[in-house]
Amino acid sequence: MGLSDCNIVIVGSGIGGLAAGALLAGKGAPVTVLEAVGYPGGCAATFSEKGYRFDAGATVGCGFHAGGPMDELGRELGIVWPVEALPVAWQYRHDQLSLDLDRSKAAVLERFPHSYAFWKEQAELSRLLWKLASGGLSWPPRSLADLSSLLRKGVTGFPGTTRLLPFATKTAGDWLDAHGLGNDGEFQRFIDAQLLISVQTTSRHASAINAAIALDLPSSGAWHIHGGIGRIAELLAGSIEKNGGAVLFGERVIRIDSVRRQVVGVETASGSAFAADMVLANLTPDSLALLLDIPAGSPFLQQKEPPPEWSAFMLYLGMDAGASDPDGVRHLQITGHSGDLGEGNSIFVSFSSPGETGRAPEGLLAVTVSTHTLPEPWFAAHERSRAEYLQRKSDYTVRVLDLMASQLPGVRDAIRFLDAATPVTWQRYTGRHRGFVGGYPQTSLFDVRGPATGFDNMLLVGDSIFPGQSLPGVVTGARRVVELVGKNVSGGR
Ligand SMILES: Cc1cc2nc3c(=O)[nH]c(=O)nc-3n(C[C@H](O)[C@H](O)[C@H](O)COP(=O)(O)OP(=O)(O)OC[C@H]3O[C@@H](n4cnc5c(N)ncnc54)[C@H](O)[C@@H]3O)c2cc1C
Repeated sequence: MGLSDCNIVIVGSGIGGLAAGALLAGKGAPVTVLEAVGYPGGCAATFSEKGYRFDAGATVGCGFHAGGPMDELGRELGIVWPVEALPVAWQYRHDQLSLDLDRSKAAVLERFPHSYAFWKEQAELSRLLWKLASGGLSWPPRSLADLSSLLRKGVTGFPGTTRLLPFATKTAGDWLDAHGLGNDGEFQRFIDAQLLISVQTTSRHASAINAAIALDLPSSGAWHIHGGIGRIAELLAGSIEKNGGAVLFGERVIRIDSVRRQVVGVETASGSAFAADMVLANLTPDSLALLLDIPAGSPFLQQKEPPPEWSAFMLYLGMDAGASDPDGVRHLQITGHSGDLGEGNSIFVSFSSPGETGRAPEGLLAVTVSTHTLPEPWFAAHERSRAEYLQRKSDYTVRVLDLMASQLPGVRDAIRFLDAATPVTWQRYTGRHRGFVGGYPQTSLFDVRGPATGFDNMLLVGDSIFPGQSLPGVVTGARRVVELVGKNVSGGR
């Protein structure tokens, strides 16, 4: 069987599913994407509400630098992304501290000059790691021995990769300590805030290697996406259709049918059935398990990686353009004076561009604010009573607006529209079990999930598989999946 005879069904139109689908459709495979809701993008969608176009979750475009995963994907598919490089990726604010995070790291080095050697090492590591991840070496490695062998293989192609070995079992905290930065509370809070929004955990737990890549984000650049981040998903869906594939909205898959270790097709809530030679599940493992009759104790469910922890509480705000411009930057990260990050004590605020067509009514901006939150208390409140759930929503709204107002004093007066989303909302709109979003906490290089599902012709794609969350992350993971589909098909199942 060749790719052109392989009927590929993709469950979900998140960026991972769409990127894999677009690459496969571009190679001539018949691709059908089934999406539960009425628009593509999942966590990186843009939705319409009362004259605004709000980014649902992701807001910062990254990976669009020359040779970056998004840049290469666009070139391969013939897509010109509607992006504009931002001079400042985001601004970090903590009490009186305000740092513009940009390619130069100038503000960070000026405030923390003793961190120079740390950043130099971080830049070298992340350069090597991106080369390895995009250079076709098959990750995840399953052991230190695997890693050594992978790195040995990589040495010819990527000189210097053995430098990674000493970092393979360290946490970011160990790495900070090695540079004498572990006791600098202000620096550590800054680093923790960067790690929480990228690798979903703080320096005490984050793997040093994952942290090296994550901390590179502002240096490799951030891009504003005209029309909202959902344009990326729309363009990928368009590419699939241009190459003869189909992206069907309002088709929630409710069951995946299999015979022994072979998936044969999927069924949707509308009563349709789709036969499949290959299924790509753009789902979290837990959400996928709910569509399968997987017995408890199945190897697929015995996760090695740490279980996901976080969901997000969001505010979608319509705000007066003039009253809310934070120094002209599009993204603002604010941490509270002290205490653990998340749960309204650290927020990420993203503003649409003033005058950007279609994002907000005249003179207003579409603003997305997010904070990490643990899902269980939300579901518990929701199950107990509607009143309790609404009260919790209202309390979080106040908490988030208080922190925002601590750095943008006029914010409350500038609000013209307000809506909030909780883990319960995330579960409803993305199908992600318990509203877990943002990917798994990247605590170890070895405890990561690959695309395998235990079914010969079904693979996972999206931010649950290595290298994890973010647009460039899921696109890199999708490339690996496409490679495996190619091998599976040419293997003549
Ligand atoms: C608050 C927040 C902020 C973020 N910020 C950034 C950022 O600034 N930059 C960045 O690069 N990344 C960011 N991320 C991460 C990024 O958005 C995600 O890692 C990425 O978009 C996940 O893509 P995915 O392929 O895993 O698919 P998902 O986004 O999980 O999409 C899955 C899709 O599958 C559909 N689906 C689910 N179940 C079914 C079913 N049964 N049948 C049919 N369809 C189904 C869903 O409706 C959804 O459309 C952020 C994430 C969050 C939550």
